[in-house]
Amino acid sequence: MKAIQMVDLVGQYQKIKSEVDVAMQRVLDTASFISGPEVKEFEKELAAYLGVKEVIACANGTDALQIAMMALGLKPDDEVITPSFTFVATVEVVALLGIVPVFADVLPGTYNMDPADVKRKITPKTRAIVPVHLFGQTADMEPIMALAKEHDLFVIEDNCQAVGSTYTFSNGTNQKAGTIGHIGTTSFFPSKNLGCYGDGGAIFTNDEELAKRLRKVCNHGSDVRYYHEVVGVNSRLDSLQAAVLRIKLRKLEEYDAARNAAAAFYDQAFAELNDITVPQRSPNSTHVFHQYTMRVTEGMRDGLKQHLEANGVPAMIYYPVSCHMQAAYKSARCPEGSLPVTEQLTREVLSLPMSTELDNEQLTHITNTVKSYFKQ
Ligand SMILES: *Cc1c(COP(=O)(O)O)cnc(C)c1O
Repeated sequence: MKAIQMVDLVGQYQKIKSEVDVAMQRVLDTASFISGPEVKEFEKELAAYLGVKEVIACANGTDALQIAMMALGLKPDDEVITPSFTFVATVEVVALLGIVPVFADVLPGTYNMDPADVKRKITPKTRAIVPVHLFGQTADMEPIMALAKEHDLFVIEDNCQAVGSTYTFSNGTNQKAGTIGHIGTTSFFPSKNLGCYGDGGAIFTNDEELAKRLRKVCNHGSDVRYYHEVVGVNSRLDSLQAAVLRIKLRKLEEYDAARNAAAAFYDQAFAELNDITVPQRSPNSTHVFHQYTMRVTEGMRDGLKQHLEANGVPAMIYYPVSCHMQAAYKSARCPEGSLPVTEQLTREVLSLPMSTELDNEQLTHITNTVKSYFKQ
């Protein structure tokens, strides 16, 4: 059996090596490393795939969120509602801009933002909602967009984990994750579903005026070189990364199918185990399984993780500490105990290996190792 990894990026590269190597060489031969044609082409191709008007490539997913908030003119003391059960980047950029993060709880089945709790957290200072499409499923966007409309709020979708996921509205229309709110953001960090070979990110919007502001902020606040109208940052995707992403974008649906096949294998194997709750499929979103994250009966998770690791199966806890419990982001407004679902999840969740390259032998070993822990 091939050694099992959380994400097998080497195995994935081996299968596309000839295409990637040619594309990389093409960039090297032209030495057009920054803002070259590869980046423009990639932006167009990703926009077409997502069905969104504008894609603006940038340096990483954290920058994408920060640039979104800068372009929307969010100011110190404004409030932004985000989940606490997320990767810290979402909250970090809010705090960096002097904006106040206000945490909403998540739903116990999908781990995504609970619209009912978002509603409770809206105040006269709220300016934006930042749903995170966690682990590969779109958050429940219809009620979130309705709240935003009612209270005149911006919606920035943190889509770093769910590129390709499709959300279905109650009238039957479909939209890709990240294209529903005013702005969507993503990351091309190597282990993300659409990952490059270094850092990368992008911002999506259907609003052409907003797209101009986003491009300006990415480029030192400038449209015309050496004239700076607003405070900006330096955030760009380089051409080598764009060349890799163009190839991987063409494989994305095949990759999603491989991830879903692994998830189905896990689901079936664990159906009989009372101590495991498999990840719930949202009734209105497809799942692209950035992570296969299950819940384990409280008190048994850490033992299972050790048992897996002792048997050559890596497993990770995403996330062991939620944002409102982090030293950097603790506040009297959101004390321990105030987000009960989030806090329960940090004690129960465990993510199993998930990648495009898992074979049946590996999946069988992983599921048998999980089962053997409960049958000792
Ligand atoms: C990965 C990730 C980010 C940050 O992306 P980087 O490219 O690493 O900056 C932000 N939010 C979420 C939910 C993520 O998973």
